[in-house]
Amino acid sequence: MSTLPPCPKCGSEYTYEDGPSLICPECAHEWSALAAETPTEGDKVIRDSVGNVLQDGDTVSVIKDLKVKGSSLVVKVGTKVKGIRLCDGDHDIDCKIDGIGAMKLKSEFVKKV
Ligand SMILES: [Zn+2]
Repeated sequence: MSTLPPCPKCGSEYTYEDGPSLICPECAHEWSALAAETPTEGDKVIRDSVGNVLQDGDTVSVIKDLKVKGSSLVVKVGTKVKGIRLCDGDHDIDCKIDGIGAMKLKSEFVKKV
């Protein structure tokens, strides 16, 4: 069960829903229930180095040489990375690079192709 927000006018907690509206029985104030909804969660937008919005499955190219942590390998500038997967964290792209394997990249070091 969802809890209805209190009346924005008088603060009454006895608000009720009437279709798309919320109504306060104490002061008769009526307002839109849609505006009271919490913003959608989990829609964090991840952008590349030039501001393109990245999505799962995109192909990007690396814009600078990146050392692979714990190895002597380097992901060279211009390396194409197919089928990226966005994730949370400091490194926000999960991917697999030919010859290197699975690794994580920072969106600021890639550009959408
Ligand atoms: Zn009210």
